[in-house]
This record gives sequence, C-alpha cells and structure tokens, in this order.
Amino acid sequence: MMKKAASLYTEISQIQTSDAIVDLAKTPYFDRVLALFGPALSHPKVDLRKIYDAAYHVKSGALIVANKGVTFVSLAPFSGSFYITRHIAASVYHPALGLESVNIGLVGNVYEGDVILRAESACPPSFLFGSQRCNCSYQWASIRELAAHFNAIALPSFKGDALESWVEEQFRYESGKHLPLQPGRGVILMHLDSQAGMGSGFTEGEFVYDLYNRALMRQLGENTSEQVHHTSIKEGYESLGLPPDARRCGGEAGYQIPGILLQWLGVSRSLIALSNNRFKLKQLQEHGFEVKRVKSLGKVGAAGQREAWQRGKDFDHLDMDGQELSFEEEIERLKAELALEPSKGFSFN
Ligand SMILES: [Zn+2]
Repeated sequence: MMKKAASLYTEISQIQTSDAIVDLAKTPYFDRVLALFGPALSHPKVDLRKIYDAAYHVKSGALIVANKGVTFVSLAPFSGSFYITRHIAASVYHPALGLESVNIGLVGNVYEGDVILRAESACPPSFLFGSQRCNCSYQWASIRELAAHFNAIALPSFKGDALESWVEEQFRYESGKHLPLQPGRGVILMHLDSQAGMGSGFTEGEFVYDLYNRALMRQLGENTSEQVHHTSIKEGYESLGLPPDARRCGGEAGYQIPGILLQWLGVSRSLIALSNNRFKLKQLQEHGFEVKRVKSLGKVGAAGQREAWQRGKDFDHLDMDGQELSFEEEIERLKAELALEPSKGFSFN
C-alpha cells in the first residue's frame, strides 16, 4: 500500500499548474487518493466527493485529505455559553515530515475581516489529565471562550431531530466555503494532533507515517527524562538525542502546517494569531497571511505551569516571563485586546 501511495504521490506531484492549490476532486486522481491516503476507502456506497476533499499544496508538496465538515453546538468550558462549530479533520502528508493529523474548528465567518487563530500542538498531559506543568489546555480553553464570546447563540427550545435539522442549517458548504448562517467574527481553532512535544515526532530524512505515535512517545519520554535527570524541557529533549523544538527542522516544516491548511481552506488573509511563538507567525506570513499578534498565556500561577517560564527562557517565546495570571484575567485581557483591533504589523523582536 505504501508503494502504491508513493507512486500515486509522484504522479500528483508532477501536475503542471500555476495555482497554489490543486483541487484533486477535479482530477482523475480523487478516488485513488481516497483509497490510499486519509481514510483509505476503496468500496464506498456513496460518492466520496460529497464526503471528503482532497487537495495538493504545490509549494510544500503536501497532500491534504479532509472531511467536508460537520456542524454541532459547542459549549464554552468556563462561561457555559453555546456557539456553533464547523469541524474538519485533516490528514496532511508533508514530504519533509510524514503524516500529520489535524483537527480544525471554524466558528463564525472565517473568510472576512481579521480572523482570530489559535494553532495548538497536542499535549496529552494537559488535555487528558489536567496537568499543571504547562498552560496548554488553558490556552485552548481561552480560544473556545473567545469563539463563544464573539458567536454566542441562544439554543432553540425544540429537541431531537428538529434540533439536529436546525443545527445542520447553521453552516452550509458552498464552492469550498463553510458559510455560517449567523456570520459572527471568524475564529479558527486548529489542533495539531501529531505535534505533541513541539513536533517531536520529526525524524531527519524520513517520511514518518506514525508521527502521532512517535511524537507521543517522545514527549512522554522527555517528561520522564525531566524527572529522572532533573532537567529542563530543552535538556530533556537533548538527553534523548532530539532537537528541543523539532518544528524548526526540515525548513521549519512543522510550523508550515497551519499556513498550508489555511491556504487550502481559503480563509481571510488577515489573521490575529494568539501566539507567543515567532516561528509560527513567520510561517503564516510566508504563506501569504498578514498577521497581527495577541499574546496567549492561558493561565500561569501557583500550581506551576513551569513550562511557561522555560518556554520564555529556553525557546525565546514572547511574553512568557512567568508572571502569575488567572484564567479569568486572561479572558478579560483577550476580549479587551481583540476589541481594540491590535495595530498591524507583527515585529519579530
Ligand atoms: Zn502542555
């Protein structure tokens, strides 16, 4: 199967085009792509063009397979507000990395104006077990709160199938665009499932099919090494013979993934990235986006979040100086800064 996939990929990579993205549904490759990449379906009973998208990102050589989206009601974790999410799961076959797995949530109208973006690398200790060693799950919770803040809905009183029909109508998919019925401010929530431990699954010179598993085992190995050898995160990765932030390797390939997916989605060129990471911002700019930045701290406090300090010191992340901050204070700061429309032009210093 991998040989067949490699040979199909070679054919696709030879397509002559001046476009940035090739929609593979408009080529004879679509069915073969769906049989060999992404969900790997070869005997469907329905037309897979109605269920999935497949595309080729010319500049990076990345092949993208994704579902066309599912609409549901979401609940913000702290305020308890309801909002509508359009959920897309994507497989990204990046030649310098391997198979990246990404979950994307679209809230509001992501095609116009300054769209708010949070791209989050997976962190199982924080997301699954509420680890207080880092601030990852708080950063993710804060973008969900913002999505609700700008797009809160009142749930209709009806239930069951009637409610489901109402929910389905809240987004329509037309000419490759996910259009909300209520066009509130656009918010993009991107979770990079396969980039646990800052993309630690990356292996030089190898197309890694199990990036997800490799990244998980390396991140947790690093966490163990930190406690066995009493090291920082940076020293932990170095102790395993790994680069401290593997997303910077292979031409910053790990950092390219959000830009590739946003180009494919065709969202607004104007982004407000909730980020402290200059490499994330730089790669978005290199993919043609005008990027403004608002810092994202989540929560930093008495329980630890030691990573927030170390990321500032060892990884040169912006504004991660470890001052204490409650989650509520963070949400109020974000709302205020986003209401002010931050000044254009991100500075790398
Ligand atoms: Zn974390």
